[in-house]
Amino acid sequence: MVNNKYALIKEIKEYAIDNKIPIMRQDGIDFLTTFIIKHQVKNVLEIGSAIGYSAIMMSLCSPNLKVTTIERDEERYLEAIKNIKKLKLEDRITLIFNDALKTKIEGKYDLVFIDAAKAQNIKFFELFERNLTDGGFIITDNMYFHGLVHKNEKEIKSRNVRGIVRKIKDYITFLKNNDNYNTTIYDIGDGIAVSEKKARGGS
Ligand code: SAM
Repeated sequence: MVNNKYALIKEIKEYAIDNKIPIMRQDGIDFLTTFIIKHQVKNVLEIGSAIGYSAIMMSLCSPNLKVTTIERDEERYLEAIKNIKKLKLEDRITLIFNDALKTKIEGKYDLVFIDAAKAQNIKFFELFERNLTDGGFIITDNMYFHGLVHKNEKEIKSRNVRGIVRKIKDYITFLKNNDNYNTTIYDIGDGIAVSEKKARGGS
């Protein structure tokens, strides 16, 4: 049974590679799961499930953790449902098939994990920070956007990619200037931002 779990995770990763589905890198997953354990996170709201890989890895690292995750791509959502069933995590992972920007979530979460359309990060942050507990965290993946954020923009040929890189830079400025949070960007995986919500009235 234990071996079966690892075999299933391996299959999910292989499916992601074969179908060019972007999932978190191993060092990013290690960071996220260690963070969840260290901060005793009880529930996570994830924006961008893809095929359920990160939601599954987060659930497996902490036996009582609950994850709510939103995905707008139907094929990926259906694959995520299958994967979550295979790992028997249906009672701990709630999948929502919708555009996150059109989704209203009730309740509070210790951790909001943003891993969806990179150009929309500010919108996701502003929409879902209302779901964050005091002292909770917003974690955002791909802050380096495959290293392109550190490149001279003139070297980036695609106009579309240049636009995304600019939006990520705007997001970094937004996080740094946001007095309600302390943000650190870690040089792990593809760059991971951790924004800790300051306790009300405190610093
Ligand atoms: N967190 C996943 C993992 O590591 O296993 C990977 C997520 S992948 C990088 C980003 C996903 O976000 C894609 O599957 C994409 O369809 C989804 N997405 C992008 N914008 C979205 C939106 N506005 N609402 C819901 N899902 C969105």
